[in-house]
Amino acid sequence: MIDQEKLQSAHKGEKKRFLDTHRKSAELFSQAQRSLLAGVPMPWMNRWPGDHPVYVRKAIGARFTDVDGHEYIDFCLGDTGAMTGHALEVVADAICEQAHHGLTTMLPTADSIWVADELTRRFGLPKWQFTLSATDANRFVLRYARHMTKRPMIVVNDWCYHGTVDETLVILDRSGRTVSRPGSIGPQIDPRLTTRAVPFNDLEALERAFAPMDVACLLIEPALTNIGIVLPNSGYHQQVRELAHQYGVLLAIDETHTICAGPGGCTEAWGLEPDFLVIGKTIGGGVPVGAFGMSNDVADQLKVDMVSHDVDVSGVGGTLSGSALAMAAMRATLSNSLLVKQFEYTIPLATRWATGVADAYCAHDLNWHVQQLGCRVEYWFCPPPKNGAAAAAAINHELEAFLHLFALNRGVLLAPFHNMALMSEFHTNADVDIHSEVFSASLDAITA
Ligand code: PMP
Repeated sequence: MIDQEKLQSAHKGEKKRFLDTHRKSAELFSQAQRSLLAGVPMPWMNRWPGDHPVYVRKAIGARFTDVDGHEYIDFCLGDTGAMTGHALEVVADAICEQAHHGLTTMLPTADSIWVADELTRRFGLPKWQFTLSATDANRFVLRYARHMTKRPMIVVNDWCYHGTVDETLVILDRSGRTVSRPGSIGPQIDPRLTTRAVPFNDLEALERAFAPMDVACLLIEPALTNIGIVLPNSGYHQQVRELAHQYGVLLAIDETHTICAGPGGCTEAWGLEPDFLVIGKTIGGGVPVGAFGMSNDVADQLKVDMVSHDVDVSGVGGTLSGSALAMAAMRATLSNSLLVKQFEYTIPLATRWATGVADAYCAHDLNWHVQQLGCRVEYWFCPPPKNGAAAAAAINHELEAFLHLFALNRGVLLAPFHNMALMSEFHTNADVDIHSEVFSASLDAITA
């Protein structure tokens, strides 16, 4: 059992230790109040453990150092943006070379063909478009789906996250109505006008959501990854595919995080058959990129509009999308990383991480679970949930903040607002074992 008094006092001690040992970061954070809203370039940077963020000096491979001179094992890896490991040499070289040859012209480069062919090889979808982020890719997929079906609604999973796509920032309230997700500020319109949320793993609810025949697109992750990891029931995706067919709904699969399952994400690993597929973050080796693939049926319908005079104001695009820089970074990343050989190394590391965590919480009599999807692994403070709401019910902010800070103070970084770790080809068994020891020690400090 977690002892609340011990938790509070241990957390206080960790906060003090953090402040005492991160003076330079504290000084920078104080200077940052001058000109940055809340002292950070973007809101998530305030969601790390400790009273201020750690300022990074250098990130290479599976490690980074901060301005106070501490070195960390990085299991967050930019929340998948650096899943390949930081500062890949080949990507750095490709970016430098492209920088000397022009970064953006609004004309295609030959790299775009190589990258699209490679994405086809990995994910199976035959036609591709490029964006600046996975958020953009999701947004554009939803536009295309509405355009093609002439239907107004979309369906997403309760507690999903697909980036800052306004209409996906929803959850189900207690009476089963779709409402804005807590914290989603300034929604453009009431999300009930655009979106129906359904629990993950609930085929009956999905069919009810499709029944009015007004749904353009179902946008889903193969497994939920943004409320812990929630895996699909056996046969779930097969039936999702069939229901989508039956009701004329386009199926969009968001592989932004689930690329952790292998070189072609869950789509390849589980034989999924989406109409659209979204990918981002990882495939640029850290350079902001996104992409969406589509079936031939979809491509044939969209081709007509792609050559119209008004395509530049179609709501799909972005001047810097598909730039020479993005293509060079993706080509270098995909030709050297996220390949079978890396996953053969990183997936066993994730299993080792999961075993270390499970051994520790079992030894402390805690009824938690740890879930693995490829090279991604995450523990959560309850037995395995079947859907996002069950996972959300187990969130414990203070416990999470303490565990993350305890680890950070000992040179181990987890993803913020998750208990998630990603393995890269630069992590070692020794790194994983350090986490296991630190995790076990953190439980010693707060259990009765
Ligand atoms: N899809 C999923 C499943 C995500 O988790 C995220 C971000 N974490 C996104 C899309 C959006 O990615 P980005 O913020 O890079 O646009």
